Amino acid sequence: METDLLFADDNLPPPPEDEAEPWIVLIADDDPEVHAVTRLALGGLRYKGRRLSLVSALSAGEAAAILRRTPDVAIILLDVVMETDDAGLRLVRTIREELNNHAIRIILRTGQPGQAPEEDVVLAYDINDYKSKAELTAKKLFTSVVAALRAYADIVALETNRRGLQQIIQSTDRLFELRCMQQFAAGVLTQLSAFLRVKPDAILCAQRGAAGRPMPDGAFYVLAGAGCYAEAAGQTASPTGAVIPPALADRITDAFRSRRSHYGPNETTLFIRVPDGHEVAAWIHTDRPLDDVDRGLVEVFASKIAISFANVSLYERLREANETLEARVAERTRALEAANAKLERLATVDPLTAVWNRRHFLDLAAAELGRAHRHGRRLSVFLLDLDNFKAVNDGHGHAAGDEALRTAVVRAREALRTSDQIARFGGEEFVALLPETDLAGARIVAERVRAAIAGSPVMTDGWSIPITASLGVAEWSAAEPSIELTLRRADAALYEAKLAGRNRVCLADEPKAPDAP
Ligand code: GH3
Ligand code: MG
Ligand code: MG
Repeated sequence: METDLLFADDNLPPPPEDEAEPWIVLIADDDPEVHAVTRLALGGLRYKGRRLSLVSALSAGEAAAILRRTPDVAIILLDVVMETDDAGLRLVRTIREELNNHAIRIILRTGQPGQAPEEDVVLAYDINDYKSKAELTAKKLFTSVVAALRAYADIVALETNRRGLQQIIQSTDRLFELRCMQQFAAGVLTQLSAFLRVKPDAILCAQRGAAGRPMPDGAFYVLAGAGCYAEAAGQTASPTGAVIPPALADRITDAFRSRRSHYGPNETTLFIRVPDGHEVAAWIHTDRPLDDVDRGLVEVFASKIAISFANVSLYERLREANETLEARVAERTRALEAANAKLERLATVDPLTAVWNRRHFLDLAAAELGRAHRHGRRLSVFLLDLDNFKAVNDGHGHAAGDEALRTAVVRAREALRTSDQIARFGGEEFVALLPETDLAGARIVAERVRAAIAGSPVMTDGWSIPITASLGVAEWSAAEPSIELTLRRADAALYEAKLAGRNRVCLADEPKAPDAP
């Protein structure tokens, strides 16, 4: 982290003059004369640009009440003898032990040094100076008070620093938990304004946009905005744009160009170099020039969050990579499912006629046979073979033969019921499965199919090709453990139909009894 003071080109309004709080000095003495003298001696004193505010108490009790109300009294000029001989000494204990105020500087003043010997008092009480009233000339008082103010300022600075560091440690712990850059950036602004004790009018900018997109010249990306700049978050800003005031945008571009932080009279621009190579600038309105303590804290904060920034952007990149990967996996899965569906189709459907193939038909039939067996239902099949089909191919060509095959299948399907299944058994031979159908019912269905096929010639390529089919029907018998046996009987019936002159339906015989000759 480098810092620099650049007041020369300040074009943001300076803070109102002499806004600094005065140092509060409490005079506790029962002698009004002492108050008057002290005021005279210290009236014009200024230390570190801050004047004194003198508060008077005429008794230890009154002083204690004031201290209870006003914890930031810098010095108490404390008389020893007031209400009682040791009222001042008792008040010291009250301040340190009861009010737990260890910052206030205590200058003890006594009119009767003999009464409270200096060595004893300094050792026994937590005081910072012990003076006899006779000793306290205007000059000496001035010196004592300035020395005490210096010590008080150091103590306050140390305490502020300690509290600030504690806050930074706590806030960065919290920031470490934020994994999204937008949230993290907003958190940085909140924490920065919290430990500087200012309203969060602030923005945080990066030289690269979302997903590391480089910015056009002079432009930058507003990662987060707070207070009156909340609207700017997520936008691209530049000194010529309207997203943020030009003077503010200038500050940001200056920070990126000079790679330095800038402490103005009422605003601070923090330049943060992130270990992963990114650069970030935070601008915050501060109401006051930041003192050394604040600046020290700001620098510590900046170096701590630089690491968090790197973490968050690494995490974001990982998440993006992961999302891309997930999308790719999902796409592959879809492609695989489509390929599987296609394979499944190829494995079960005949490509020429789009009905089931032989293998799938046998699976369907086995399942149907199982159901018929379990529930005692009827089940029939028929085999269908186109008549003299070789002649169709020979006479009109293979393409016309294919067309005739497809037409025959369409006609057969239309003649079947929706619960029936038809499949290509091979060549110009087809098979149908007719659930819950006995032989008589199957015969009717088969006859309807035959009639549909023979109904009209197939018209293709200017040809008119008459087609017919022969069918063999068989009803499954509970004695048949597999459908192949039933199909064998249907085949015999089909053979009979062919022999009998074709274009007809023949019924199979009953299955033979196992012990028949
Ligand atoms: P039958 O009445 O006795 O059944 O006589 P057929 O001519 O139909 O019988 P055959 O078994 O002698 O001939 C079957 C013909 O079916 C032979 C073959 O070229 C034809 N065929 C089988 N599969 C296809 C196919 O996918 N497309 C075409 N165009 N023809 C086919
Ligand atoms: Mg044939
Ligand atoms: Mg055949």
